[in-house]
Amino acid sequence: MSDNNTNSRREFLKIGSLLGVGVAAAGAAAYAGFAAQEGKGTHGAKAERILSESEQKIKVLTEDGQLAEINASDLAPVQKDEYTDALQHQGREGIPGKHWVMVIDLSRCRNVRACMAACQNAHHLREEQHHINVLRMQADRNSEPYFMPKPCFHCDNPPCTKVCPVDATFKRQDGIVLIDNERCIGCRFCIAACPYSARVFNWFEPKEVEGDDDLLYNVELNVPQKKGTVSKCLFSADRLREGKLPYCVSACPNGVYSFGDLNEDSVTNGTSGETVRFSELMRKNAGYTLLPELGTKPNVYYLPPKNRMFPFEYKGKTTLEDEHHG
Ligand code: SF4
Repeated sequence: MSDNNTNSRREFLKIGSLLGVGVAAAGAAAYAGFAAQEGKGTHGAKAERILSESEQKIKVLTEDGQLAEINASDLAPVQKDEYTDALQHQGREGIPGKHWVMVIDLSRCRNVRACMAACQNAHHLREEQHHINVLRMQADRNSEPYFMPKPCFHCDNPPCTKVCPVDATFKRQDGIVLIDNERCIGCRFCIAACPYSARVFNWFEPKEVEGDDDLLYNVELNVPQKKGTVSKCLFSADRLREGKLPYCVSACPNGVYSFGDLNEDSVTNGTSGETVRFSELMRKNAGYTLLPELGTKPNVYYLPPKNRMFPFEYKGKTTLEDEHHG
């Protein structure tokens, strides 16, 4: 189980404090109060608890970066419904100013599948469920096979979101396509619409993980999974909110993944930590997207499997098995 999922209350407090400050900026003292009462000791919270000498006044950092002073007596714990509403709002909005992009270097993939394991662990997926899959590819009979990790491509023109009858799946301002599993009715239109087979259906009850019963649903993490709904890669939206790279990107030992912001024209390699210009990386390596003729405009780019310095060794399951379980 990943760190950030082991303790639902801790997570609730942490995210609650972040959300609380945002609402406090709009004048809702109840949220600010929650942040002030619970923010102490939470890691990475934007809210800074600064009590005055008399313990009567409290200062909080508002969403727009201003320090506001409010009476401690005005504070009250945030209610669960308010908290989940705020989480939903944040999850639908995305992170302003960002346009996330992923680069997958096929010349480096050795089918280690650490990316798949990290993703499964973070999202409490059963062993047979994948949000990212490593496929065995071969251009023709005479060419060398290679491995191709395939997440959701978070298309800029996604056919999947357009067919959802209940607005359960949506595209955010930062480019991420998410699914709200509280809203999903399991019609599977989106699965049929995706030309990349990036979506999976939850046929079974989710994996049992201690603490999940108490966990409040966060659309950016999609934990716990729900039987009868659709799920897929989330670009680790919860990690991006913390300023970290996605789970799969950090887990790969071979430097296959780079991730970054198209608006800044920069991507960072998950293994080396090296940050480079996205446009230059594409130009020098002939980067490409899958099926560009469809007009879906994916935000996942591939670098071709050229100049590999290691032999092709296939140790994993067959691609077909993986695909069918998905
Ligand atoms: Fe939608 Fe498929 Fe594109 Fe992901 S890859 S955004 S599921 S169309």
